[in-house]
Amino acid sequence: DPYINVDPGTMSPYQHGEVYVTEDGAETDLDLGHYERFTSAVLSKDNNTTTGKVYGEVIHRERKGEYLGKTVQVVPHITDEIKRRIRLLSDDLDVVIIELGGTVGDIEGLPFLEAMRQMKIDTPPGDVYYIHLTYVPFLRAAQEIKTKPTQHSVTKLREIGIQPDMLICRTEKKLNKEVRAKIALFCNVRPECVIEEIDVEHTIYELPLMLKKGGVDDRIIEMLGLKCRKKGDLSEWRRIVRRVKNPRHHVTIGVIGKYIEHKDAYKSIYEALAHGGIGNNCRLNVVRVEAEDVENRGPAKYLSRIHGLLVPGGFGYRGIEGKIRGIQYAREKKIPFFGICLGMQCATIEFARNVCGLDNANSTEFNRDTPHPVISLLLEQRKVVDMGGTMRLGAYPCQLKKSSKAYEAYKSAKVMERHRHRYEFNNDYRETFEKNGMTIAGTYHEGDLAEIIELKGHPWYLGCQFHPEFKSKPSAPHPLFRDFIKAALKRSASPTKKKS
Ligand code: GLN
Repeated sequence: DPYINVDPGTMSPYQHGEVYVTEDGAETDLDLGHYERFTSAVLSKDNNTTTGKVYGEVIHRERKGEYLGKTVQVVPHITDEIKRRIRLLSDDLDVVIIELGGTVGDIEGLPFLEAMRQMKIDTPPGDVYYIHLTYVPFLRAAQEIKTKPTQHSVTKLREIGIQPDMLICRTEKKLNKEVRAKIALFCNVRPECVIEEIDVEHTIYELPLMLKKGGVDDRIIEMLGLKCRKKGDLSEWRRIVRRVKNPRHHVTIGVIGKYIEHKDAYKSIYEALAHGGIGNNCRLNVVRVEAEDVENRGPAKYLSRIHGLLVPGGFGYRGIEGKIRGIQYAREKKIPFFGICLGMQCATIEFARNVCGLDNANSTEFNRDTPHPVISLLLEQRKVVDMGGTMRLGAYPCQLKKSSKAYEAYKSAKVMERHRHRYEFNNDYRETFEKNGMTIAGTYHEGDLAEIIELKGHPWYLGCQFHPEFKSKPSAPHPLFRDFIKAALKRSASPTKKKS
């Protein structure tokens, strides 16, 4: 990623969308989430490189005197550092896929493109394969497909010494043979390597099938000279797509958030919900609700038709009271509820205020002087000065109570889940909560931290301090998402639902 931030952890979701968290606690671009969902790779902090990281390292070395009196320059020092980071990954792998973010022609992307160009002359012939992703617009008014932007960006690439081997053409309409031949000729790419990628209607998980049909895998295998014993088997993807396209049931899920109009802000949440749908053979109608609307107009207007409510993670006070009102509604009406990170914290506040009678209970993130800080900072977080990379990050073990919804879902007493937060459930209130019907269903033993809360006497009510959405895959829906949708499905089928 060519931006200067060291990682996206400090960026607003409006700027950047979701921050994806890896097992080892790196805060990364949301594209890494796609790579984990689409492949079997477990990614780490080494899989996301930014201009900030590259320059940070080079400047650090310069201060230590490691460049021995040389002038430190973009070429070769910055480009060398970019290539070093790529090689770090390639130890025992056959293929490394490098996605370069941004757009050809961006000033800040140039050192990365230059490093990519050098890769080809640094490695044996046939070891580097360039794929350029390009947009082929369809002009509705003229009813015409335009190849000029593609020609132009390829020209830009060729100016800096990169000749793409393959073009993936994102398009709304089918590209006919003439258009593809024209792109091939003008861009100096073999016609069979001009691949169309038409917008998919139902699910992004159709894309691997489309790309395979275009012969992408065969071309890459051929050009990189890879020896494959078996033909690519995409039957798993076919099964997933079939399930998405032919659902047996429908459920409506409400999501209350604060960046709700910005779909990328909750990318992994929506994906994991969809996986839960795949796992239950049902299509989801996701109703995205702005937290401040619930705050101003009350929950019934937005939530009376839903079969399940999810409140995702977030930061800052705006919208909190709306989320709390929504959770109260789901608790009282016995609508399946799933709270994630901030969603769990809001559920804790709601329960404290409305069930335990702890007036004005709050998280110290929103009110430092609350009489009942049911969510608060641990001692080690109170000392933190820097904002970047200092939250509780990455995977931690969580021990589950046997008689819990969580255990029922995971079917295991110990799980690993990823975190990204500063504030925690305050153990001073544990007893009060338990007396009033809340169960602490999951704990991180070492730190004695409450990680999962559940409610007795509710069909499905679960809040977790971690982010299960990061580990869900279309081929393996996350157990908590799967069971949340299952509970919602049950409600949608229940004849008594209208009474509530
Ligand atoms: N703002 C809360 C915290 O820092 C929750 C964070 C989140 O939802 N990811 O603890």
